[in-house]
Amino acid sequence: MQGMFCMRCKSLLPPGSKRCISCGADINPEWISNQSSLDGLGPKKKTVEYVTEENKDAPFLPYPPRGCQIDIISDIRNALNEGRHIIIESGTGTGKTIVSLAAGLEHAKMTGKKIVYLTRTISQSDQVMRELKAISKLKNVSGLTVTGRNKSCPLFRGTKDFENISPKVLSMMCEEKRSRSIKNQGGGCRYFDRIKTELDNVQNFILKQFPTSDDLDRYCERIGVCPYEMKKQLMKSVDVVAVPYVHILSSDIRENLLNNLGLEGDPKGILLIVDEAHNLVDAARDEESFRIDRDLIDNAIDECSTMVGNPTVWMEVELKEFLTYFKSCMRSVATEKLGLNEKEVVLDGDYIEDRIMKKYRMKPQDLEFAINRIIDFGEGRTELLMERGENRVSDIQTLGVAMNDWCSSASSRFVRSLKIDEDAEYLSAKCIDPYEISQFLNEIPGAIHMSGTLQPLDQYARVLGLKGNPRFRVYPSPFPPENKSVLYVNDVTTLYREMKQDPSMQRRIEQYISMLCNSVDKNTLVFFTSYNNMRSMRPYLETHILKNLYWEESRNQRRTMENLAAFRNGRNGVFFSVMGGSVAEGMDFPGDELCFAIIVGIPYPPPSSEQKAMSAMFDQRYGPGKGWLYTSEVPALRKIKQAIGRLIRTETDRGMAVILDHRASKYVKQLEAKLSDDPAGEAARFFR
Ligand code: SF4
Repeated sequence: MQGMFCMRCKSLLPPGSKRCISCGADINPEWISNQSSLDGLGPKKKTVEYVTEENKDAPFLPYPPRGCQIDIISDIRNALNEGRHIIIESGTGTGKTIVSLAAGLEHAKMTGKKIVYLTRTISQSDQVMRELKAISKLKNVSGLTVTGRNKSCPLFRGTKDFENISPKVLSMMCEEKRSRSIKNQGGGCRYFDRIKTELDNVQNFILKQFPTSDDLDRYCERIGVCPYEMKKQLMKSVDVVAVPYVHILSSDIRENLLNNLGLEGDPKGILLIVDEAHNLVDAARDEESFRIDRDLIDNAIDECSTMVGNPTVWMEVELKEFLTYFKSCMRSVATEKLGLNEKEVVLDGDYIEDRIMKKYRMKPQDLEFAINRIIDFGEGRTELLMERGENRVSDIQTLGVAMNDWCSSASSRFVRSLKIDEDAEYLSAKCIDPYEISQFLNEIPGAIHMSGTLQPLDQYARVLGLKGNPRFRVYPSPFPPENKSVLYVNDVTTLYREMKQDPSMQRRIEQYISMLCNSVDKNTLVFFTSYNNMRSMRPYLETHILKNLYWEESRNQRRTMENLAAFRNGRNGVFFSVMGGSVAEGMDFPGDELCFAIIVGIPYPPPSSEQKAMSAMFDQRYGPGKGWLYTSEVPALRKIKQAIGRLIRTETDRGMAVILDHRASKYVKQLEAKLSDDPAGEAARFFR
């Protein structure tokens, strides 16, 4: 490419530039290069080497084995053959996807099981398809990726507010169209009608191409067939299905999955592979947690006015009156229990239920009856709304289901509380002990759980409630250890108590950050423990760091992605982010896209009633001190390791991380960190 380019980051320079718009470097005429940033960038075509004949120690491994891959495959094989779960931490570069598939397929082909590969993101499931394609050069294997209707329904995609239609409503809309199609009535779904005629075509396509999720959807649409329903039909015939976590965490979706796989609800026929397993427990807790907002109750009460007659839920008690009393119970509990400036009160007893029962002289079974009536009325309303083309679930139905869940959540597995935010009070039921998933996992004879940050492995098994005798294994990264350096300083902290006592603390942290950013000419990521910390330090950093600065925007994903793209494009910018978010955990920054990481504080979870209850539960189950370890220390260390893990993604990457918090001294072994009193000097020397 012809033109003048910045010597430092190789970006194109407009004529007469004094400063590079990409990396911020001053332009010295002697510095100008005629080499573009695009030269040599982008995906480098690396020749992939395949084995020419089957490796007897790993018959499904299509590449020559490297590092400890044969050991991993052998360990997985042994665990699965013994019907045990295997829990693996293996560093970046060990090839977790390919080894788990190679070992899993060997077992599944022998036992007739189906592999269900759980992924967090679509790009991870696409990686599964790429690896399956590689294995297919050696063995007869097949697979497909499954996504929800909201990604794969071509019929309704064009309708107004399609993105906001809930999965439940979309499923009802689809059901209606399909039943018309099946009965040969007008107004069915034309994409569904062609499933039978195109089944062989699509099957051949997936067997030959191993398409990514998008490619398969596009192919189906091109031939006029529904991708979602087609995948349901084809699941039975493939070896591997890659699905998002929710397909296992939600009991309804899981049951459908097992049926579509031809297992008639019997989980014993699947071999589960959990990718990025460190996320599983939180995802399971979130799946079971819920809240009841004041807005929902108000909308349901308003909806009662549109109903014909005055339906009753119990004896003479009308629906509207009952819901209005439910709302007033919440308000009176808030008035009685919340002190001045308090935002939350934990409801140890059945305060709300008791009040309702007392008022209407009900027994528990009467309350259950009344709530079921609410759900029935709500379902009737939903049908009516759908017939009118409003494409939404009745608020009465949503509230009825939530009230039913609320009454069922009165157990030690949930922390139930009444909270207040800027809008109004609401009821919150947070799951602290995800029973559903542990019950399911204990039913399946063998699974592979893996992540780059899963230690301590016994803690993972305990928190998930895995019984039996899981096998634990840790495999190191094959990358040269000298390519990574982790430092920490011992004269600052983000600990709230110390920051409050020492007013100069924040300024010292800001000075550290700006000094470190200015000390190296490399792309740098700064991770904060919270958006609040990031916001409060932003003004100082914007005036003291002499580079292009990019920010993660807390409620603006699109802006964040644009900023991130601009950051990755340059070679000397600084991106400010928050630990535990999508940038810190879900992204790869190969080569010079990221070299330096600054970690501001230790990301212990903020104190909350759920944290306290979980901690007490683990103390009681596993001994004093385990609660703090399992609920605070381990999650915080995982977040730091995930952030540091962004630095080294290939064997030639070099990277340094500096932790700005003296509390890192407790974790020098786990983080392989060294104390430094001159981190900026050490960083400059490391990168020189
Ligand atoms: Fe949409 Fe497929 Fe259902 Fe038709 S069958 S409505 S295309 S999801």
